[in-house]
Amino acid sequence: MSEHKSNPVRLSDYLPPDYAVDHVDLVFELSPRDARVTSRLTVRRNGDHARPLWLDGDELRLESVAIDGETLASERFEVDERGMSIPDVPGAFELTVVNRVDPVDNTALDGLYQSSGNFCTQCEPEGFRRITFFPDRPDVLSRYRVTLIADREECPVLLSNGNPVDQRDLGDGRHQAVWEDPHPKPSYLFALVAGKLEAIHDRFTTASGREVELGIYVEPHNIDRCDHAMRSLIKSMRWDEDTYGREYDLDVFNIVAVDDFNMGAMENKGLNIFNSKFILARAETATDADYDGIESVVAHEYFHNWSGNRVTCRDWFQLSLKEGFTVFRDQEFSSDVGSAAVKRIEEVNLLRQVQFAEDAGPQAHPVQPKEYEQINNFYTATVYNKGAEVVRMWRNLLGWDRFRAGSDRYFERFDGQAVTIEDFIETMAEQADFDTAQFRRWYDRAGTPIVHVSKTQANGEVRVTFEQEVPAVAGQEDRDPFLMPMRVAAFDGRGKPLPLDESGTAEKTLVLRESRTSFTFPVAEDIDRVVLSLNRGFTAPVKIEHDYDADDLALLARADSDEFNRWDAYQRLVIKTLVDRIRQARETGECSDEELPEGLSAAFGSLLHAAGGDSDARFVAECLTMPSEPYIAEQFERDVPVDAIHQARVRLREQLANEWSQSLMLVYEKQEVDGSYEYNGEDVGRRALRAQALACLNALDHPAWRRLAVEQIASTDNMTERFNALSALCVRESEERDQALEQFARDWADDPLVMDKWLSLRARIVAPDDTDTLAELEAHPAFSIRNPNRVRSLVGVFSRANPVAFHAASGSGYRWVADKIIEIDGFNPQISARLATVFSRWRRYDGARADLMTEQMQRMLDRPDCSTDLAEIVGKALR
Ligand SMILES: [Zn+2]
Repeated sequence: MSEHKSNPVRLSDYLPPDYAVDHVDLVFELSPRDARVTSRLTVRRNGDHARPLWLDGDELRLESVAIDGETLASERFEVDERGMSIPDVPGAFELTVVNRVDPVDNTALDGLYQSSGNFCTQCEPEGFRRITFFPDRPDVLSRYRVTLIADREECPVLLSNGNPVDQRDLGDGRHQAVWEDPHPKPSYLFALVAGKLEAIHDRFTTASGREVELGIYVEPHNIDRCDHAMRSLIKSMRWDEDTYGREYDLDVFNIVAVDDFNMGAMENKGLNIFNSKFILARAETATDADYDGIESVVAHEYFHNWSGNRVTCRDWFQLSLKEGFTVFRDQEFSSDVGSAAVKRIEEVNLLRQVQFAEDAGPQAHPVQPKEYEQINNFYTATVYNKGAEVVRMWRNLLGWDRFRAGSDRYFERFDGQAVTIEDFIETMAEQADFDTAQFRRWYDRAGTPIVHVSKTQANGEVRVTFEQEVPAVAGQEDRDPFLMPMRVAAFDGRGKPLPLDESGTAEKTLVLRESRTSFTFPVAEDIDRVVLSLNRGFTAPVKIEHDYDADDLALLARADSDEFNRWDAYQRLVIKTLVDRIRQARETGECSDEELPEGLSAAFGSLLHAAGGDSDARFVAECLTMPSEPYIAEQFERDVPVDAIHQARVRLREQLANEWSQSLMLVYEKQEVDGSYEYNGEDVGRRALRAQALACLNALDHPAWRRLAVEQIASTDNMTERFNALSALCVRESEERDQALEQFARDWADDPLVMDKWLSLRARIVAPDDTDTLAELEAHPAFSIRNPNRVRSLVGVFSRANPVAFHAASGSGYRWVADKIIEIDGFNPQISARLATVFSRWRRYDGARADLMTEQMQRMLDRPDCSTDLAEIVGKALR
């Protein structure tokens, strides 16, 4: 195997910047092929040293450099492919650099680029150096003044950070706008947008009376799809005032939606730039899931105004300081405005499926990584989602009031500064009465702890013992225990809660600190069965191992007073059934086609009945959703039985549907939503539950259920129900399915975001070795390999949500995905590297598959032009 040269950046090597830049004055003369950037920096030496001034620069065409107005001869500075070095500079001076960039050829979508003919930027983490020469690191904070000059016809709208201070016509067909941002910020928060855009506007008055003008800018044909995003923004602004006491601090807040975007959205100060997927929605084109996503991403980026912008990161090892905290904040917001239990289920599902998998493989890293080669590769579920769980543990350990006091103190103390995770911990620690040094392990140690729980009952007492197992990953082998909050309860054999102490408390939050911790509670002699409800609400991001039998799980699924744990018990019951069947089939060599287990069937039935009563329909829908094939695969450490998992899952769903088809039909009829589409909790829940019922029914090969789906597509006024019905048809092969897919593609051919849904549905159902269909999809006008949303919908979904085809024994799936990755790596390394992580855990597959996977990774790596982003991901996986 060839080794790629690694050149890591280390946290331990951090040094403060040699020079501060107090003020930045930028003038952009925008043109598609040749944008001219004039940058005037007010520079000051930081500390007593004689080191040269270093400015990062990437793919820039330099025109001139001047110090205090005097142009430097070429021997006065050095330029290489990483940037520019200027020795012998004064202690304080004005530096003027003029350079040019080509926004059209910028296919990496990083720096200044064009999307649908409009200019936009993406600078986090290191895109600013692709715009102009600058010490491009987050601990250099400056005040910005930005002048945009562009053709008046081509670019009627000119936006940047901060407040607008001037706009005028230049008389030569061009016009200019000037923006000033009074808040010091790092370069990664810089943004500009220029183009033919239309906007909707609204106003917000902050608690202290500041009038803020809100704008959402989109391409003209999308102007009727912005209302939901605007409502979400106003809700977020109000929530951050009410919940965290945080107010907005500029006269304008603008959002722009663009079609070509590597990530979800970007929190640039006063000018958020969004992937259009997270702004555009109207009932006919967007699903409830899209509405949810928009609400939470708009909130996330807005909340960054404090957790990220006003208080920013010192360096990129601190990424979770802003992301973990802000994800936690947006999760709490969504929980407050929607269903708390459903939100928690979604969060934990994502954590288990994506972060736990990452944490167990070659890409494992701590919430605060200690080294990286490409920071782009560290925008991970660990930094974001595990980071959020760690903040949630702070909240759970401190209680809300002390947590809020700590957060207030953090914002006050560090306002306008670039700080570290240590600063956050120290501020929170002032509120704490526990060992925060031990708690810090959550930031430093990779891997998901496993908590083994056992119980004994004797002499009127139940003793529960918790044992922590800390896996060796990412070169970390120590076994020291974590400090974690663990909420528990117990039930008797009829599902009645048991008191955990003399005062009658039915629920307790234990704080586990040791490798082994025991806790006892009294129990009446006549109670012969005690069922534990563990890690309620998922208070600690760990795996719980406990010897539940199917009856225990069925009891919790029915009776647990913690909704999250009810869902969890039901999921465990389904997984236990599947895993037992797969193991048995492996031993006997044949697919076991046994009876449906009674406990599971009864639990399924009682969920359907609960849907008619007081249970939240959306919660029931979550419970009825079968665990995904990749999550079931996580239950197997090696030789993942890809095909057996698929078959067992299909078979179980069929059996449940067969047993309960009458009830499913009743639920489907009863949950119908009257009237036209509205996005509200009740209607969303009804549609979600109907979707599950319809999908379940369509697991059966019966024309009546297909007709139900076809009728739903024909009669509905909204995309949620249309797409749910189409998805239900896709559960099995049929003529109706093929016709409906074709019709859908004809109806929505002109709508790229809707066609993304179609691409991902198609990607999910491609049969193993059906390379013709893959070629057909790739050639389809709805697909473009240059657009990250299209790539994620087809290549991303195929590789992650269609395991039987991706892992086809012939290797055809691996080959096709590797071909795409190699092609994309030629123009957008961030996207190719991200796609390649799907190959990371090749060791879990049987020898033949493992060989085929490593062969493809080797092929990606053995190219002279393999990007450093991709080389880091693949190199780590192969090492
Ligand atoms: Zn963020």
